[in-house]
Amino acid sequence: MPSIVKTPPELRLANLGHDRDTGELLIVNLPKYVCPECDALTPFAIGEASLSETDRKALDAVSGEVKPYETEHSDFYCRVCGRAVRVVCRVHEFAMSAYKYHPTLVWEMATDGSVDR
Ligand SMILES: [Zn+2]
Repeated sequence: MPSIVKTPPELRLANLGHDRDTGELLIVNLPKYVCPECDALTPFAIGEASLSETDRKALDAVSGEVKPYETEHSDFYCRVCGRAVRVVCRVHEFAMSAYKYHPTLVWEMATDGSVDR
């Protein structure tokens, strides 16, 4: 099994905002993941699902699956070192069909050793 660790989103995500009402972290325009291994910035989209099935299932096993209308996952690879990353957001509908995304956790999979560090 690959080793998977969870990290607070404020340590890994650039361009976060704060909710004016609650002070919670908030995804604003152009969220980016800052990789602790290679310092690369990887832009991602809410709901992105660009991991292989194997990596996605490994992350599902630790983080739980998406609960529609409650959580959203963004799954992607660091664009330089290729580590698999999942950003978990809590979804808040604040008006009809208008949503806020509060990042709650970042899951990171250790690279398998095939990539130079
Ligand atoms: Zn990286």
